Amino acid sequence: MESFDYIVIGGGSAGSAVAGRLAVDGTRRVCLLEAGGRNDNVWIKTPGFMPFIPEKSNYRYETVPQKGLNGRTGYQPRGRGLGGSSAINAMVYIRGNRWDYDNWAAEGCTGWAYDDVLPYFKRAEANERGGDDYHGAGGPLFVSDQTAANPASHAFVEAAAALQLRTNGDFNGERQDGFGLYQVTQRKGERWSAARAYVEPIREQGNFAVRTDTLVEKLIIEGGRVTGVQVRRRGVAESLLARRGVILSAGAFNSPQILMLSGIGPAEHLKAHGIDVVVDRPAVGGNLQDHIDYVSGWETQSDAPIGSTLKGTLRMAAAIVEHRRKRTGVMTTPYAEAGGFWTVMPDSPAPDVQWHFVPAVLEDHGREKVKGHGFSLHACVLRPESRGTVRLGSNDAAAAPVIDPNFLSDERDMAVLRAGVRLSHRIVDTPPLQAFGPTDRHPVDLNDDAALDELIRSRADTVYHPVGTCRMGSDPQAVVDPTLKLNGLEGLWVADASIMPKLVSGNTNAPSIMIGERCADFVMEAE
Ligand SMILES: Cc1cc2nc3c(=O)[nH]c(=O)nc-3n(C[C@H](O)[C@H](O)[C@H](O)COP(=O)(O)OP(=O)(O)OC[C@H]3O[C@@H](n4cnc5c(N)ncnc54)[C@H](O)[C@@H]3O)c2cc1C
Repeated sequence: MESFDYIVIGGGSAGSAVAGRLAVDGTRRVCLLEAGGRNDNVWIKTPGFMPFIPEKSNYRYETVPQKGLNGRTGYQPRGRGLGGSSAINAMVYIRGNRWDYDNWAAEGCTGWAYDDVLPYFKRAEANERGGDDYHGAGGPLFVSDQTAANPASHAFVEAAAALQLRTNGDFNGERQDGFGLYQVTQRKGERWSAARAYVEPIREQGNFAVRTDTLVEKLIIEGGRVTGVQVRRRGVAESLLARRGVILSAGAFNSPQILMLSGIGPAEHLKAHGIDVVVDRPAVGGNLQDHIDYVSGWETQSDAPIGSTLKGTLRMAAAIVEHRRKRTGVMTTPYAEAGGFWTVMPDSPAPDVQWHFVPAVLEDHGREKVKGHGFSLHACVLRPESRGTVRLGSNDAAAAPVIDPNFLSDERDMAVLRAGVRLSHRIVDTPPLQAFGPTDRHPVDLNDDAALDELIRSRADTVYHPVGTCRMGSDPQAVVDPTLKLNGLEGLWVADASIMPKLVSGNTNAPSIMIGERCADFVMEAE
C-alpha cells in the first residue's frame, strides 16, 4: 500500500492551500486527491468563458424542493477538478466583514477573530496594488483590478453614488460598506484559481503527489485514528495510508458526505443507510447556510452591455481574439463586475445585503439564453437565519448528497431580501443607469409586500456560498475544534467552507483559502 505523511482530500480552494503549504518546503510526503481532472484548459483560464465551462468541471447539484421557493428545486453548481469551485467561480475577491470573525471568536471559535485571520488573508494574497495594513503583496493568490469593466458597471457605481451611497474602492480594507468595482482573483487577465496559486507551482516536486480523477470513498479508521483513505481511480479500488493524518477539504456538500460514509455523523441517519457508527455527531451535515439571492433584470435600449445581438456577438468574437493574443479586454470580465454592501435593517451590526451587478441579462443562473442587451442586479442576504442540511441519499460516494438549504424558512431573511430588492430598484431608477434605457423584465408593485414576496419566492436562489455543515466550535457537539481537528478522532482535520460556524458577509473563496492556510499551520504545529 502506498503511504504518505499527509493526505489531503479535495483540491479546491481550501485543499489546494493546505496541500501546497504542507508540501512546499519538501520535508513531508503529501498526497492531494481530487475527484475531477486538472482543469488546465482555456475554458477555465479565460474569465469570460465562465458560461461555457465544461460540464465535467461542475457537479451541477440540485437541492430538494424548497418550500420557501414555492416548491422549486434550487441549482447548486460546485467545482470539480483542481481548483474546485475557485476554478468555476466569478473570481470576486471578498473576505467578509470584521464583525463576522469577531463574532465567530465570541461564540467559541477562539483564535478566529478578525485580527487573528487578517495575517492569513495577507499571507495568501498578492494584490497588484501592493501591500498595506490590510493587503498582502507576496502571497500566491493574485488579486487584480479589472481593466475592461463595462460602461454599465461604471454607471452602476455612479447610480449608487447618486443616492448618496458611498463609493468604496476597497471592500477588503478599513470599511466594507459602499459600492464599487470588485477586485478579482486573476493574474494578467487569466483566472487565478487556488490550484494555480498553490498546486501548479510545486506540482513536479518529488514529495508532492497530485492525483486527479481519484474519488475518495471513505476514511480508513483504526482504533480511534484516521490512518488512510479508500479511493476509486478509473474503476479500481485502492487504499492509501497517511502516517501523520488526513485533511478533509471536499467542500460544504462533500465533506459531510465523506464523513457520514465513514461512520461520522448523526447515528440514526447512518444506521438507516446501514453504515456502522464510529462517532455519533449530529452536527455533521447540519447548520447548512447559504446566501439566498434575488436577481433583478432589465433589458436595455443601449447595446453597450454584453448581449447576444449580432453586434454583441461580433464584439465578443473580437474580444476572444484580443484575449488569445494579449490576455486583455472584455474577455477578462468576471461578469459580476461591480457591487456593494449596505445595511437595510436598522439593528444590523454590519452590512446585511450584498449586490452583484452583471452587465448582461441573466436568467436561471445563465442557463437560459436570452436575446438582446441588458443588465442584472443580484441582491443577497448576507447573514441568513435559515438553516438546512446535507444528508446521504445513497452509500455511493459518487452519488450526489441530498441538499436542503431550507431557503427563506426564516421570515427574517425575507424581510432583508425584500428591502434589498427595493434598493436595487432605487439604484437603477437614477440617471446614470436610466441613460441605458432599461425595461424591467419582472415588473412588480414594489410597495406591495405580498406581491414582492411572491415574485421573490418564484425566482430567488443561491449565489453559491454554502457553508457550515462541519461547523467549528469549542462545544463538544461541534464537528471540529478551533484548530480544525475533528472532535472524537485522531489524525483528521477538516478545512474548507464547511467549517464556518456562520456564513461570512461576503463571497466565500478568499475565506476558504484563508481556512486552508490556517489549517496547514495547525497541522504543522501538531507535529
Ligand atoms: C458558480 C460559482 C460562483 C462563485 N463565485 C464566487 C466568487 O465570485 N467569489 C468568491 O469568493 N466565491 C465564489 N464562489 C464560492 C467559492 O468559490 C466557494 O465557496 C469556495 O471555492 C469553496 O471552497 P472549498 O474549499 O470549500 O470547496 P471547493 O473549492 O468546492 O473544493 C472541493 C473539492 O473537493 C473535491 N471533492 C469533492 N468530493 C470528493 C471526493 N469524494 N473525492 C475527491 N475529491 C472530492 C471537489 O471535486 C472539489 O475540487 C462561487 C461558487 C460557484 C460554484
